[in-house]
Amino acid sequence: MSGDVTNLARVRERVEAAALANGRSAVDVRLLLAVKTVDATRIRALLEASGHTLIGQNRAQELTATEPELAGVPHETHFIGHLQSNKVNAVMRWVDCVQSVHSARLAERLDRAAAARGRDLEVFVQVNTSGEPTKAGADPDEAGDLAAAVGALEHLRLRGFMTIGANSPDPGRVRGSYEDLAKVRDAVVGAGAPGTADARELSMGMSGDLEVAIAAGASMVRVGSGVFGARD
Ligand SMILES: *Cc1c(COP(=O)(O)O)cnc(C)c1O
Repeated sequence: MSGDVTNLARVRERVEAAALANGRSAVDVRLLLAVKTVDATRIRALLEASGHTLIGQNRAQELTATEPELAGVPHETHFIGHLQSNKVNAVMRWVDCVQSVHSARLAERLDRAAAARGRDLEVFVQVNTSGEPTKAGADPDEAGDLAAAVGALEHLRLRGFMTIGANSPDPGRVRGSYEDLAKVRDAVVGAGAPGTADARELSMGMSGDLEVAIAAGASMVRVGSGVFGARD
């Protein structure tokens, strides 16, 4: 457990160093803890010991099992995995943001589920910037239309864009995929469709490449194994 606290402090130092190296301020890059496969007791202990508040879950079932055990611990939960439509209602009860909106259909379902709970939901549009078929997300050329469709929905608040970087040993390719997300964001905000003015966030970068993502403008990096160790 104390190992997690130490690892988290190290990752925070990496984030700060990368921000400063790029002439940015450390507070401009948020750190999201990707907690998939980590049990609730361990998450709870880390949040309590560190004061960290931002976590991300990939699977609806894990989310709904974990959240009741985090009751009373101040935190914000983002959904960052593939969201099936039949899980939208279950997820809606617990999340502050869904970062993985990849289709207008999913956005409409989220909008209806938010309305049914009498709330608004923050969302990011997920973009497949690597072109890898195994990765989720809208194509970069379709992301603008999707963002405009999301912006038009009454109960969704579009806050930005998310991507999983290219899986490549070539830092140039990885960086290219992150720069492409920044271009999508700039084009959307520049086009000025209703409901897109606040879509400034760039959620990109993981344990292995967060420095590359921060250099390309990440406002949020998502870190799992760098804190919790390798998943089995
Ligand atoms: C697991 C995961 C991460 C974190 O990856 P690590 O390499 O463990 O830091 C980030 N984003 C998403 C969507 C993930 O599923």
